[in-house]
Amino acid sequence: MVIATATAIAEPVLNVEGVSRTYPGGVTALDDVSLTVRAGEMLAIVGPSGSGKSTLLNIMGTLDLPTRGRVRVAGQEVTALSDRRLSALRGRWLGFVFQQFHLTDGLDAAENVATGLLYAGVPRRHRRRTAIEALARVGLAHRVDHLPQQLSGGERQRVAIARALVNEPALVLADEPTGALDTVNGEAVLTLLTNLNAEGTTIAVITHDRDLAARTPRQVEIRDGRIVADTVSGSGT
Ligand code: ADP
Repeated sequence: MVIATATAIAEPVLNVEGVSRTYPGGVTALDDVSLTVRAGEMLAIVGPSGSGKSTLLNIMGTLDLPTRGRVRVAGQEVTALSDRRLSALRGRWLGFVFQQFHLTDGLDAAENVATGLLYAGVPRRHRRRTAIEALARVGLAHRVDHLPQQLSGGERQRVAIARALVNEPALVLADEPTGALDTVNGEAVLTLLTNLNAEGTTIAVITHDRDLAARTPRQVEIRDGRIVADTVSGSGT
């Protein structure tokens, strides 16, 4: 019997095929990009400013549609969906982490995380408990009642990561997740993401930071709207 490796048998959670994106005015931000992300992977999409990372992130996250090409999330073609079905698909299958955390000021950590459950059909009375479990996964069990302004930057980003995870998405998209943090907190967030990946979470990190990218198992390099390298370097460090 042939035993396939986990990567070989893992299903694609995201499939971008022949995607181009031209903005009004004629800028081609993406030019014939194809990318498959499989369950269990952790990859970095790395490139300099203006290379098309945000555009690709928006398209992978179904926040924007391509001018040409196909995008499938969890096997579902997204380009044909209505806005309502698209946001339901996004809420069910994708988790987002942003550079500036995007927490809501008046909500405590658990309430912020619970906003990630709005599409999950989790009864209201269970949401807080589920959110607290997600906070425990990111090492913040002792901060559930804190408001964002009572937390450090590193802690805020961990709340945002818990919010992204709480619905057990097929893919977490993290846009410069360490970009607003000092070295120590950035390091802790990267370690957390690496540990979550080891537990099975599929993660794509978008970054301009080549050192950060080098620490993920797979690096997809983008330049002038095209993927110029896609390298698997093993387990990262
Ligand atoms: P990155 O995230 O790597 O900095 P972007 O995806 O933001 O790159 O940008 C890629 C290219 O598309 C750049 O030339 C940028 O100026 C252009 N661009 C991005 N957004 C828009 C927009 N809304 N309208 C016109 N041009 C845009």
